[in-house]
Amino acid sequence: MSPKTADEIAAAADATIHEVGYDRNGFDSRIDTKTLRSLYLAPAFIKAGAETTNVGSASKDYGTESVYDKDSNKIQYTTFAKFPPVRLLPDAQRKRILVTGGAGFVGSHLVDRLMLLGHEVTVLDNFFTGSRTTVSHWVGHPNFEMVRHDVVEPFMIEVDQIYHLACPASPPHYQYNAVKTIKTSFMGTLNMLGLAKRTKARFLITSTSEVYGDPEEHPQREDYWGHVNCIGPRACYDEGKRVAETLTYGYMRQDGVDVRVARIFNTFGPRMNPYDGRVVSNFIIQALKGEDMTVYGDGQQTRSFQYIHDLVDGLILLMNGEETRPVNIGSSHEFTIMEFAEAVRDIVEEVQKAEGVPNPKRVGIIYNDIPTDDPQRRRADTTRAKETLDWQPRWMVRDGVREMVLYYKQMIDQGKL
Ligand code: NAD
Ligand code: UDP
Ligand code: UDP
Repeated sequence: MSPKTADEIAAAADATIHEVGYDRNGFDSRIDTKTLRSLYLAPAFIKAGAETTNVGSASKDYGTESVYDKDSNKIQYTTFAKFPPVRLLPDAQRKRILVTGGAGFVGSHLVDRLMLLGHEVTVLDNFFTGSRTTVSHWVGHPNFEMVRHDVVEPFMIEVDQIYHLACPASPPHYQYNAVKTIKTSFMGTLNMLGLAKRTKARFLITSTSEVYGDPEEHPQREDYWGHVNCIGPRACYDEGKRVAETLTYGYMRQDGVDVRVARIFNTFGPRMNPYDGRVVSNFIIQALKGEDMTVYGDGQQTRSFQYIHDLVDGLILLMNGEETRPVNIGSSHEFTIMEFAEAVRDIVEEVQKAEGVPNPKRVGIIYNDIPTDDPQRRRADTTRAKETLDWQPRWMVRDGVREMVLYYKQMIDQGKL
């Protein structure tokens, strides 16, 4: 029987995967998905006239509550009654962890996980593409600190581990100020490596499948050197990440810094900036709003999409494992963009029907120009991740897209989109 309400949809996804993380090598990073979900599908209330209704499907235990008043177009936030319970770790196991870019999409999920696991987390972010609201549910927690800072400037702190994520990741955002993107990749990484060297912290950088450019080998293995246009519009990001990897291994060889390099492939999930122009957010929002979905080019280019919780599992395993070579973290399930558009359209319709939207409109698909240097094929070869981390994606793209649809739908209902 197919699920009927948003709660049932969430429960159905839960039935397949009810926890994330692993209990491995004496390191237990497991968290139940219900707790995680309550942090991004927080309850939301809409006030129309005298009535206030609850929208969304999350438990009401945690999360910043907000009440949107349709008549006055005002939103009221309430502060936390309770923080989600975090693990109580003995001092010897509790780490001081810096997450640069921690207010962004990937960073905020990583922060949730590290906080729930009981660590002390400092987020460093200049809020260029991230937002304070992504981690606002931790503000005030004794284990949490948020610092507004630009990584191109030096930064001093005492830490045990550094997850260095700070860098805009979507093509429209990283191309908005190409020079700043290169500065962030180079100077930001230099500063964080200098910090790792001084504090002897372990350093993990989130590199990207873009280091392979428009690849001539398929799927992409870590020992493929790539095919990158060094002067094209994507170069600020691609070459920025390549030089950031070069710096990382320079510090490892010269100064003995303990490094980890994750090459991340396309990732999606709740809290993706709805305006960052990436394909998953664009398609879902267009379909939810009943607008045509915009496929660039003929839609025959491919990508492999992984859900955010799988990526966070991979990052935590890599940070706490022994592999110092670059590791691809991504899905090996390849979609053409056209196939993906159709899949998203079906899932959005399914959620709308389940939520009682009468006769949801079947949206059209239109074709726009393909951006310059758009890679034609991309699929992760994850053999190394399997062999060295015993990691492979567990989430079905379908389940992930459903969660993201619920998240954006809630934002639309709340008047935020
Ligand atoms: P995002 O844009 O949501 O997050 C990036 C964060 O970094 C934002 O909070 C932003 O404000 C912050 N930031 C940017 N420049 C900064 C600066 N100079 N100083 C301080 N903070 C700064 O992007 P994301 O998808 O969360 O990506 C996070 C990391 O993962 C990036 O390094 C990205 O290259 C990498 N990555 C992501 C994907 C993906 O599909 N999401 C794929 C490959 C690699
Ligand atoms: N750096 C930093 N925080 C630290 C240590 C270093 O931001 O805690 C910066 C430092 O300002 C420099 C960069 O990291 O710009 C590289 O530092 P490193 O010690 O490797 O080089 P040096 O300072 O000798 O140029
Ligand atoms: N794309 C699309 N429609 C959109 C946004 C993106 O067809 O509204 C295409 C884009 O041209 C690319 C793929 O989807 O081929 C993935 O784009 P995205 O910007 O998400 O990430 P990329 O992998 O290119 O960095």
